[in-house]
Amino acid sequence: MRKSHGPAFKKVVIELDKCPLCRGRAVTQGMFHDLPCDRCNASGWVAAATGQALALDELVTQLGMRLQAATRQIEQLKKSRATGPEALYQDGNRLGAGGTNYTGD
Ligand SMILES: [Zn+2]
Repeated sequence: MRKSHGPAFKKVVIELDKCPLCRGRAVTQGMFHDLPCDRCNASGWVAAATGQALALDELVTQLGMRLQAATRQIEQLKKSRATGPEALYQDGNRLGAGGTNYTGD
């Protein structure tokens, strides 16, 4: 895959940062109720490089990709804690060692 100058053929992940106006909450405090933050298209995120909101169609894609990555991370964490071979091995060792000198770390 070669980098070229024209428009990207492949969606690239844009580095996002929390919106400085709403601090990532996506809403701002109105008089009586929360208002959608117009700085970040009510997403809570802006492009880290520019500090500007992404266009809505781009925003949806970027959030989707972030969510996918986050979901994958969560799944991996769950697996490595609950059913990963390493976790099982370590748990087994702890129990096998008598369990009395477990220090809780
Ligand atoms: Zn905002």
